[in-house]
Amino acid sequence: MIPSEADLQLLFARLNYEHFNGEIPDCRIRYNARFSNSAGRITYSGRPLLIELSPKHFQKYPGALEETLLHEMVHAWCYARFRDTGHGPRFKKKMRQCGLTSIYHDLGNVRPFGESVKRYILRCEQCSFETLRRKRPGKPVSCPRCDKRRFNPRFPLTIYEVMGLEAVGNTVDGLRAAQKGAPPST
Ligand SMILES: [Zn+2]
Ligand SMILES: [Zn+2]
Repeated sequence: MIPSEADLQLLFARLNYEHFNGEIPDCRIRYNARFSNSAGRITYSGRPLLIELSPKHFQKYPGALEETLLHEMVHAWCYARFRDTGHGPRFKKKMRQCGLTSIYHDLGNVRPFGESVKRYILRCEQCSFETLRRKRPGKPVSCPRCDKRRFNPRFPLTIYEVMGLEAVGNTVDGLRAAQKGAPPST
């Protein structure tokens, strides 16, 4: 069961209050059954702004609805404040403040929250060399530390896939917070 359009309007109001200080002007939220490759969309031309969501998509992935609505609301906020309609720095900054990690809202890219970042770690089991890759390597690679000159099958790298990410602090404020929580050192 997906929320009714009236419920969507309430969800909009709640998210607007929670993440935007109520700064987003009224938007009309509705389903559009004709969407085929997009989970959500915002149209800036009319008043109020129109946010449309794909009912088909959310019947399949009910958990993604709030995230998608929030994504469109970041667009509405950027537009209301800066007349900015893209996925640029303003969008990304606000998006992160809202707890979203990915700018994508196309169907093929919408995944449950937390799975959108996929990374591979290649690790040498002999010397513990590690390197991070966005993609799985398409050809054999060997440890560049164990054999600096050439590919050497004696030093293969093991592929580890990062299945989930957990934020454990941020490098400026989070560090201090983490230190505060730690027992005092004597
Ligand atoms: Zn977008
Ligand atoms: Zn090595």
